[in-house]
Amino acid sequence: MKKILLINFLIFCQLSFLKAQDLGWQQRVEYEMEIDFDVNIHQFDGNQKLTYYNNSPDTLKRVFYHLFFNAFQPGSMMDVRSRTIKDPDPRVRDRILHLKENEIGFQKISSLKQDGKDLNYKVVGTILEVELDKPLLPGKRSVFKMEFKGQVPKQIRRSGRDNKEGIAYTMTQWFPKMAEYDYEGWHANPYIGREFHGVWGDFDVKITIDENFTIGGSGYLQNGDKIGHGYNGIQDKLPGKNGKHTWHFVAPNVHDFAWAADPDYRHTILKMEDGPELHFFYQADTLVENWERLPEYTKKHFELAGSLYGKYPYKQYSVIQGGDGGMEYAMCTMITGHRKLPSLVGVTVHEAMHSWFQHIFAFNETKYAWMDEGFTSYASNIIEDKLFNENKFYPHYGSFSSYKRLVDMEMQEPLTTHSDFYTRNGIYGVSSYSKGALFLSQMEYIIGKSTFDKAMLRFYNEWKFKHPKPIDLLRIFEKESEIELNWYLEQWIGTTNTIDYGLKSVESEGNGTAIVLERVGNMPMPVDVYVEYTDGKIERFNIPLRIMRGVKQEEFNGISNKQLESWPWTYPEYKFTLEVSPDKIKTIEIDMSMRMADIDRSNNYYPEKENPVTFPYIGK
Ligand SMILES: [Zn+2]
Repeated sequence: MKKILLINFLIFCQLSFLKAQDLGWQQRVEYEMEIDFDVNIHQFDGNQKLTYYNNSPDTLKRVFYHLFFNAFQPGSMMDVRSRTIKDPDPRVRDRILHLKENEIGFQKISSLKQDGKDLNYKVVGTILEVELDKPLLPGKRSVFKMEFKGQVPKQIRRSGRDNKEGIAYTMTQWFPKMAEYDYEGWHANPYIGREFHGVWGDFDVKITIDENFTIGGSGYLQNGDKIGHGYNGIQDKLPGKNGKHTWHFVAPNVHDFAWAADPDYRHTILKMEDGPELHFFYQADTLVENWERLPEYTKKHFELAGSLYGKYPYKQYSVIQGGDGGMEYAMCTMITGHRKLPSLVGVTVHEAMHSWFQHIFAFNETKYAWMDEGFTSYASNIIEDKLFNENKFYPHYGSFSSYKRLVDMEMQEPLTTHSDFYTRNGIYGVSSYSKGALFLSQMEYIIGKSTFDKAMLRFYNEWKFKHPKPIDLLRIFEKESEIELNWYLEQWIGTTNTIDYGLKSVESEGNGTAIVLERVGNMPMPVDVYVEYTDGKIERFNIPLRIMRGVKQEEFNGISNKQLESWPWTYPEYKFTLEVSPDKIKTIEIDMSMRMADIDRSNNYYPEKENPVTFPYIGK
């Protein structure tokens, strides 16, 4: 009996070990594509060989591909959504509805085989639903061969031809792309206009196109010596074969492949000593002087971002004029170029910063836009502040004000909302970019800046190239700080609860002073109280939440720090006393650092302040 129990126990241990390991798998793709492009009719013929590795513990009977270009057809989900959402994106509105036959986008599949056998498939809007000939077993791979034709839509959103600045082709989301399958299942999201999620792998792409066109994009060009166009130190456009060049790109370890082409691109390169080779592609027309200054800023960005968030792991990055604003892709970005310098640098910094969050970590942006856009905004707030030597007291103030406006309008939706499902574009924007950025600046506040900085680098080392989920990041912050943080994720992301703490009273008590704080908002937070005495000395009192089961480390040199008893969050009030009488106290302030997103700071001061300003002593 005992023996059987022991064996059962051992089997149980092994199974649970396997189960824990199971969460660590991810699918893998190897794409080989050959594209023959006709610039006269904006169409291309494509061959795709995709080796798909099922590393999951599941048997797959179906697979799904994205056919993003099909979104640019009248009546598509994207068209209808863009016209019926309460605050339409001015770039889209009803423009898809009015596209003519030769202006729509499409991806038409003419044949699809799995390991040599023809497959049944169905095109359902922007998704290709494929029944497998043979189920794909755990640990096995299949080779899918596809022939397809694409028509590049007139530029409306992100991809397309002839954007408003006259860039011929912005080729993003342009090829039939395998949807991601992970332990949450398939992510065959229809393309409605925003955010992506893809499978990690290697891309080998050959693009045959009119010899006058210069291409910039993902990957490393293998045959620059035969092509020129600014590659391999050859400025000339070398002659092609029958008026065309075949550009051969290889992009290892990415989850997407994008490119742009234009006959009028100027192509310049800045080689960083300890960093990627930076490529710039732009039409040398309007505001060209700003593009000429952009490389020095981009270089500084890569240096700063590398030291703060981990080294950029690829050998190349390209800033390409194209698209309809700014959008991040593998090893490159497409941005519009007719901009003043701060705007041009700002958009480049933001999109290049995405290389970390959208690309190297590759959060599922459709589900967790707040991680992708929010963390990118957080980091670019900091980097822009350094690039322009602004030295702002609190660089995330812009993010805070947008968030606060949303709160004031009572229009919040929880950040757990899938990015396509926010009821308004504006609510998606503020929630993902601004409230998402505040997730990190408040994390700094909760666990302390130096612990936070270490955690970000640890997160990079442990989770790069792995599609981490919110809980994976939270666990890193917990391990680094030894503070329990689940409550923070649940409240800030899963609810629309807001934070408001106030100084209720400051009164003499015996020989000292009694300070009573109150929690006005529904969301609990640890509270830092700064006291400045009449002799100029400043002290910080840190009140952790009881549910944190830990306290933050020292922050801000030169300011003494006193840990007080933890605050059980259900208590509406909290009292502590100072040993000095009220007349020795000049000011008291809740969270002088401003990192806690307190929606009403008017009750944070003693004596009360009409126009709340903070102490000038501390910063970053
Ligand atoms: Zn972004």
